Amino acid sequence: MKLLDGRKVADELLTSLTGEVRLLTDQGVTPKLAVVLVGDNPASESYVRSKRKACEQVGIAYEHVAMPQSSTTEEIIAMVQDLDAREDVHGILVQLPLPAQVEEPLVIRAIQPAKDVDGFHAYNLGKMVLSKEFEHLVPCTPKGVIKMLDYYGIEIQGKEAVVVGHSNIVGKPMSIMLLNRNATVTTCHIHTKDLKSHTLRADILVVAVGKAGLISQDMVKEGAVVVDVGINRVDEKIVGDVDFEGVCEKASFITPVPGGCGPMTVACLMENVVMATKRLTLSA
Ligand code: NAD
Repeated sequence: MKLLDGRKVADELLTSLTGEVRLLTDQGVTPKLAVVLVGDNPASESYVRSKRKACEQVGIAYEHVAMPQSSTTEEIIAMVQDLDAREDVHGILVQLPLPAQVEEPLVIRAIQPAKDVDGFHAYNLGKMVLSKEFEHLVPCTPKGVIKMLDYYGIEIQGKEAVVVGHSNIVGKPMSIMLLNRNATVTTCHIHTKDLKSHTLRADILVVAVGKAGLISQDMVKEGAVVVDVGINRVDEKIVGDVDFEGVCEKASFITPVPGGCGPMTVACLMENVVMATKRLTLSA
C-alpha cells in the first residue's frame, strides 16, 4: 500500500504558484482573495485559517470579511457585489455552509463567474462539464483529487470509478471529472441501495460523505485506489469516512486524513486565485 500524500503534492503546487505570484507582482498585480465568513462556526473558522495561511505562503493578498450569524441573504449579496466591483479583488469565496436563514444558491449566483474561485457558479460548473482540462474555475476539492491521482501516475481511463456522495460541491463535480477522463462512473448517495455492491467494484473509490467509518475493509476491492474526502471530528481527532487501518490492508493507494484531500483543496484554491487574477488583468 502507498500513501497518496496530499501534503507533499500540495506543497509542490504551492511552491510553483509562489513563482507565478512573484511574476504577477513584478508586473504590478498582486492577486487578492476576499473570504466572506458569516457567523462563528468553528469548522468554517478553521478552514478559513488554512486558506489565509496558504495565501501568506504564496504571496496572495488576503482580505477577511466577517459578517454576523444573523446576516440576511440580501446583506451577504450586497457584500459580494461590493467585492465584485473592486478591481483589487480577484477572487471571492463565501465560506459554506451559510446560516439556515440564508439562501445559499442566490449568494453563489451573485459572485461573478470570473471571480468565483470556488467554482460553484452554474456558469463555471457548466464549463467544467464541457471540458476535461482545468482551464476554467472548477471546484477545488475534486480538482485536487484528480491532480493527486495524476501526480502518482494512476490511470483513470477505462477504470471503474465509484464516488460516494453527490453534493454539488464535491460528489457531483468529482463524478463529472472522472467521466471526462473516461472512467466508468457510478455515483452513490444516501438513497443508494446496497452501497457495498457498488464500492466492491471500484478500481478508484472516492468517498465524500461525512460519516466516520462508513467504508470498511469488506467494502473495498483488493488493489483499489481509495480517496477519502470526508472530514469528521471524533473524540477531538480528525478522521475521514474510511476505516483507514482496515482498508489499508487492501488498497494499492490510500489518502490519509488529515493530510490527503484537505491540503490539495487549499492548494487548488490558490491555483484558482492565480488563474482568476491572470484572466482579469492580463487579458484586459
Ligand atoms: P454533503 O453533506 O453536502 O453531502 C453528503 C453526501 O453524502 C450526500 O450526497 C449524501 O447523499 C451522501 N450520503 C450521506 N449518507 C450516506 C450514506 N450512508 N451512504 C451513502 N451516501 C451517503 O457534504 P459535502 O459538502 O459533499 O462533504 C462531504 C464530506 O467531505 C464532509 O465530511 C466534508 O467535511 C468533507 N469535505 C472535505 C473537503 C476537503 O478539503 N477535504 C472539502 C469539502 C468537503
